[in-house]
Amino acid sequence: MFNKILVLSPHTDDGEIGCGGSISRFIEEGKEVYYVAFSTARTSVGDGFPNDILEIEVKKATKVLGIPDNHLIIKDFDVRHFPSSRQEILEELILLKNKLNPDLIFVPSPHDIHQDHQVIANEGLRAFKKQTILGYEEPWNNIVFETKNFIKLEERHVKNKVDALRCYQSQFKRPYLDESFIWSLAITRGTQLEGGYAEAFEVLRWVL
Ligand SMILES: [Zn+2]
Repeated sequence: MFNKILVLSPHTDDGEIGCGGSISRFIEEGKEVYYVAFSTARTSVGDGFPNDILEIEVKKATKVLGIPDNHLIIKDFDVRHFPSSRQEILEELILLKNKLNPDLIFVPSPHDIHQDHQVIANEGLRAFKKQTILGYEEPWNNIVFETKNFIKLEERHVKNKVDALRCYQSQFKRPYLDESFIWSLAITRGTQLEGGYAEAFEVLRWVL
């Protein structure tokens, strides 16, 4: 149904966490997937890592998922300060829309409480007016999340997502990168469909 997919990831790793299994499935199905990271958080990298570590890690992680190098786009907005760059981000999104013409867009949930995630969700909805838009979940940022759309996954897609997230060595202390969390969420969403694995999404706009 959808052939050209654009994943909008405020920071590196959000896109893989929110829809890494679906990316893996789409690539397997021969669909074109583009991934945009809006910040590599140069100013908040942990001790002992070079400040471009997240750029290196997102390149590895998206490669593991099968996204071609030339489908990875990295921007350098200031982490935690996206609200002050809102218009600039909207203009970037409109350029991307005109250049890529995708038919399915993934953004963070509009209920996500992180200020940078909110900007990407809101400006994504503003920029892509004719496209289907799904909001992905990051439960530690979601007080409410409406599981109205599901993408079913096979075990290999979840494994591929876990392998991609392993590339983020600099972020390993984050509990949401724990392998058992990734598996348990995929099982939880699969259980809502009476078994198997899935990722759940909010429906921001649905165009058929
Ligand atoms: Zn983020």
